[in-house]
Amino acid sequence: MEYRYGRRYYQSAVSPEPPEKSGKEVMSKGSSGMEVILASLENTRDVPTTLNILYILSELLTVGRGRRVGVFVSKGGTGILFQILIGASKELPPSEELMLQLHSLLAKVGPKDRKFGVKARLSGALNVTVNLTKQNLQNTKLLLPCLQVLRVYSTNSVNAISLGKNGVVEIMFKIVSPYSKKNTSLLKVALDALGALLKSKTNARRAVDGGHVHILLALYQDWHRNDTRHRHMLIRKGLLVCLRNITNIKLGRKAFIDADGMRILYNSSTECLPVRTLDPLINTSSLIMRKCFPKNRLPLPTIKSAFHYQLPHIPAAGPVAQLYSQPPGGRKILQLCDRPLKKVDDVVDESDNEETDADTENDTENEEDEKDQNTANDDIETDLNKLHPKKNPGRPFEELRVYERFFLELSEDFQGYNFESSKSASTTSSSFSSSRIATQQKDSPPAGSISSHSCSPLTPLELDTIHLTKDQEAHIPSPDTQQEGALNSGQGGRGLKQDGSPVNATRHIQSPLLLGGIATRRVEGGSGSNLGSECGSEDTALLLPLHDPDLYVEMVKGTHSVPQYAEVAYPDYFGHVPPTFREPLQERVYGVQRSKIFQDIERLIHPNDIVDKVVYDLDIPSCPVVEDDGESLKFNSQFESGNLRKAVQVRKYEYDLVLNSDINSNHYHQWFYFEVSGMRVGATYRFNIINSEKSNSQFNYGTDICYYKNHFARSSIAAGGQKGKSYYTMTFSTSFSHKDDVCYFAYHYPYTYSTLKMHLSKLEAYRTPHIYLRQDVLCETLGGNSCPLLTITAMPESNSNDHICQFRNRPLIFLSARVHPGETNASWVMKGTLEFLMGSSPLAGSLRESYIFKIVPMLNPDGVVNGNHRCSLSGEDLNRQWQNPNLELHPTIYHTKSLLQYLAHIQRAPLVYCDYHGHSRKKNVFMYGCSVKETVWQSNISATSSDLQEDLGYRALPKILSQIAPAFSMGSCSFVVERSKESTARVVVWREIGVQRSYTMESTLCGCDQGKYKLKTGGSD
Ligand SMILES: [Zn+2]
Repeated sequence: MEYRYGRRYYQSAVSPEPPEKSGKEVMSKGSSGMEVILASLENTRDVPTTLNILYILSELLTVGRGRRVGVFVSKGGTGILFQILIGASKELPPSEELMLQLHSLLAKVGPKDRKFGVKARLSGALNVTVNLTKQNLQNTKLLLPCLQVLRVYSTNSVNAISLGKNGVVEIMFKIVSPYSKKNTSLLKVALDALGALLKSKTNARRAVDGGHVHILLALYQDWHRNDTRHRHMLIRKGLLVCLRNITNIKLGRKAFIDADGMRILYNSSTECLPVRTLDPLINTSSLIMRKCFPKNRLPLPTIKSAFHYQLPHIPAAGPVAQLYSQPPGGRKILQLCDRPLKKVDDVVDESDNEETDADTENDTENEEDEKDQNTANDDIETDLNKLHPKKNPGRPFEELRVYERFFLELSEDFQGYNFESSKSASTTSSSFSSSRIATQQKDSPPAGSISSHSCSPLTPLELDTIHLTKDQEAHIPSPDTQQEGALNSGQGGRGLKQDGSPVNATRHIQSPLLLGGIATRRVEGGSGSNLGSECGSEDTALLLPLHDPDLYVEMVKGTHSVPQYAEVAYPDYFGHVPPTFREPLQERVYGVQRSKIFQDIERLIHPNDIVDKVVYDLDIPSCPVVEDDGESLKFNSQFESGNLRKAVQVRKYEYDLVLNSDINSNHYHQWFYFEVSGMRVGATYRFNIINSEKSNSQFNYGTDICYYKNHFARSSIAAGGQKGKSYYTMTFSTSFSHKDDVCYFAYHYPYTYSTLKMHLSKLEAYRTPHIYLRQDVLCETLGGNSCPLLTITAMPESNSNDHICQFRNRPLIFLSARVHPGETNASWVMKGTLEFLMGSSPLAGSLRESYIFKIVPMLNPDGVVNGNHRCSLSGEDLNRQWQNPNLELHPTIYHTKSLLQYLAHIQRAPLVYCDYHGHSRKKNVFMYGCSVKETVWQSNISATSSDLQEDLGYRALPKILSQIAPAFSMGSCSFVVERSKESTARVVVWREIGVQRSYTMESTLCGCDQGKYKLKTGGSD
């Protein structure tokens, strides 16, 4: 009766106008309509009036897209509702209608009130709703709003625990089971509430203890079987969400496995696959199965690198020191003390993990990028003192004087040259024969001749004043290649030299060599050491002018690797010919990741398919161990830059691969390079690199390749102290079209140290009488390899005082590359740079006449030789050692920095410094530079205008590049100085040497999505 009366009253009061309009009036700006209503509600003591006001509110809040609910909440409406609720609960029995209306309203405003959960708990409303629910389990009309309110309560984690204690988890289970299609809306709300409650570990444990994992799985199966027309997807999803949250705890995962959850979810998901609308079910199932897949250790005796290099001394702190403080590992030491190394690899299913929020059903596509953005601000250098370049050479000149020998061009006087005879020789300057080089070398001046010229320094040329037209007449023989005078890093007995290692280049080849699935060239027949000249060295010479297979083998003989490699990989032997077509830029293809993950789960579902046979293992001295029964592929990576530690045949055509970590390290797995043979023609093989570490990767793009988190646990040591991290699988499939083939797979086109030596040697052939090219050995590396230093400029026109002065006063441009061994593209870009600078184009000539180029083409030869991804032999990232490089541990950095310090001392700091890198995720080519202004702008620090005085020159070079180089993207450049980068070449050369134009140049490992080189996207079907 009261209800009807109220309804009528309300209708008569507003009936002349449509309710919508009057509602607007009540809510309009300046109107205190809502306040009036709430005040009346608060002050009303009798149930009928309260109900009337609640009806009005209910109508009012139903329209208006939630904006009104916002006003209601902001005016304190929620609190008033809770007050009334508490008051009403004290009446015995409480008014059912009042309870119904109150809960309906609370259910409506709850999701819009961020403090809802706290308000409910503090007011004591939780218990009122819980008791009401318990008393009305059969009263659907009242039960529904109660469950809706409980659902909102439960999203607050403190409430969830308290509700669990009060038996709400059990109540929800009672409501959702057994299977019944009656009252599905109630069921849906109960499942949502239950899902929220189970986010609490205590509740999840309660559910496991109550045997509910089994019940949930049975229910899920019932719904799966009976919901044939897929009308109740949300209920099925709700059940999965409950399972997902329970399996966040270890106990839950165990219960799930014990209840045969893997098989149940696998089978149901497989049946859902054809129905696209059921994707949410498949994705959540997949997430649960991945989580519950028993965590494993990597199949290794230790995660420390398989190869160990004895350092002259151990750094005091840092990753290497940490590694050394652990029990010994690595192949060599293992042979001495043969005991398991548990402490290094303390990995089991160690966590009740909470990563589900980040690791949602959707692929973690932008995880890393987001992380980058989040940390970017914390990482900005805010110390103005550090932002201002010091130009402090830091070392006494006496110590630096020794580097004078690398700058002969600054004192050269060319008095011994016959400029006339070199002019006459110019007629044949276009042919590059080795005999010609030999004659030139005889004409070379004595090294280090002392200058008698006195030159006043010229103004350095600006970048944009490069003259394109120049007199081409002066042809002068060039100085000799100088291989002596390398700076020794100081230590004596490095026991790892190898002399005249037997190089195996006599293998029989019949099929095309494959690199990353692309046929690089086809080689028919032929064997023996003259293989290179026999099979197509002519087109090799044409396509790869700097390549020479025989010379390559010679170079390999002088290269020193820790594992003492004695083989040569065919792709490096024959040279890398790029594909004639442009590969499309791959797109992320729907369902690829899922199907690969399902194949992984099938390992548990169909254990009979599992072969589990180790076919390659560096940790076993007799590796490789595979017998040739034709049932397994043969693997090999024991050649320069090779990186494969172990291969396990999992199923007939599937292999798990483990990459070696960088030497003296226990992580950095990304670069790979290995050989496969013994394949069956036509079969599709799947390869899984199971110890990748990056959370996202370009490998997620494509149909045959994908990347996902796997079930191999990472020890906290290898994960930088974080517990419960997993490795990632990079998986790809391929089939082979030729019998008895030898195929190679690599992260990117390899570029070995021996390749560099070969290219540098062949570069001599580009020398003309115009070109001044000098090759020095800067120093020896820890591993006994020499670090080349190149000087390229133009010869002076004559030995007249003016010409010699112009020659000596050319500004210097300092380039370096390949500090990170895995970024092989940096070497290919460097090769292009060298070819260009040595080339015959007018622009190259003009550059040589304007500048002196000093180039360290490979800052980390040891890392490259040994197949590292990031580090040198000391297990450290050399591009984090520039602030304080150690003479013994980081000789290449120490001496390169010294060269720059020397230049700063003699007031000849380079105009430009640029270090070449490769970027694994971003497209195009771009630069990082250093600017005080742009760093300050990005941070909150206050700076005076004098602090911000800065020449804008640092932007000129990237700007010019963006205008003339189609691959260059100005938009990707950054000029912010980050704290985490303070010991990189770019920042140290800027800050300490005072080079304003100091850059890191990043080239994409994937491709371009702009300009002339823009790749078509494709690959999706
Ligand atoms: Zn790099």
